[in-house]
Amino acid sequence: MSRLRVAIQKSGRLSEPSLALLQNCGLRFSRSKDKLFWYGKDFPVDLLLVRDDDIPRMLLDGVCELGIVGQNVAREVMIERNGGEGLDQLRALDFGQCRLSLAVPEGSAVQSAADLGGRRVATSYPGLTRELLAARGVQAQIVELSGSVEIAPGLGTADAISDLVSTGSTLRANHLVEIEALFESTAALFGRAAELPADRRELFARLLSRLDGVLQAAESKYVMLHAPRDALGAITALLPGAEHPTLMELEGDPDRVALHAVCREALFWEHLEALKAAGASAILVLPVEKMLA
Ligand code: ATP
Ligand code: ZN
Repeated sequence: MSRLRVAIQKSGRLSEPSLALLQNCGLRFSRSKDKLFWYGKDFPVDLLLVRDDDIPRMLLDGVCELGIVGQNVAREVMIERNGGEGLDQLRALDFGQCRLSLAVPEGSAVQSAADLGGRRVATSYPGLTRELLAARGVQAQIVELSGSVEIAPGLGTADAISDLVSTGSTLRANHLVEIEALFESTAALFGRAAELPADRRELFARLLSRLDGVLQAAESKYVMLHAPRDALGAITALLPGAEHPTLMELEGDPDRVALHAVCREALFWEHLEALKAAGASAILVLPVEKMLA
């Protein structure tokens, strides 16, 4: 029987959320402690656990059909290997948020990307940095480093760095100031849909549909409330992303009804307060675990 292979990061920032996402899609694996290959038990999808940098390469080489990796890494490998092409981003995911930013030592004369012409920029993302600087009309000298980029200016080997930032605390600890974000990144599911053999397309579509259900469910809430019949229109309009609510009689209270709806967009306290102001009461908000549209 045909199977699919999904590559995820073995250990690092993306490992846990990637595995959790696949498990939420109903995938179960026979794990082997140190082996890189986990066999899919109930669903014919196997897992490859590798360094994140290897994931786009493995996809391009056809070693796996799907991979979860940062957009930053996928773009870098595509630039390095394929002139920026080759992988399809199938779904953006809600973890791994960071940005590739330019930073300089405190007190540096360099204040923006434009000041970096001819200067040395240390980075682990040479392709992406060169491309993004070129897009701003800047030609810098790229110093490629595989790690600890933030110490390069202090060592005198670079005038600036282009590195991943999320909170900025690493920069501050190294007396660097962020001057410009070049690229916003998040983790994403990548694949090469067009190259997929016919026998695996159905499985691929099924997995994507489950994934969409999980992603959609994460945002969705099941809302239950009591509403005056004459305010139903106003109350329904206040529910973000809700279609066709269910109405139920309230025993002994003919003027009010119970309303149930799935809100497919984030629901904030402001929404609940507005619902209450419109006459709703007994408002309950429940998480949605799974969803299949
Ligand atoms: P590996 O051993 O797999 O090569 P790594 O050290 O390259 O691991 P991590 O530090 O685990 O990778 O980061 C993986 C990805 O997490 C990054 O490529 C990026 O997409 C994302 N990320 C989110 N926030 C940050 C951050 N503050 N710094 C670095 N990466 C981040
Ligand atoms: Zn890496």
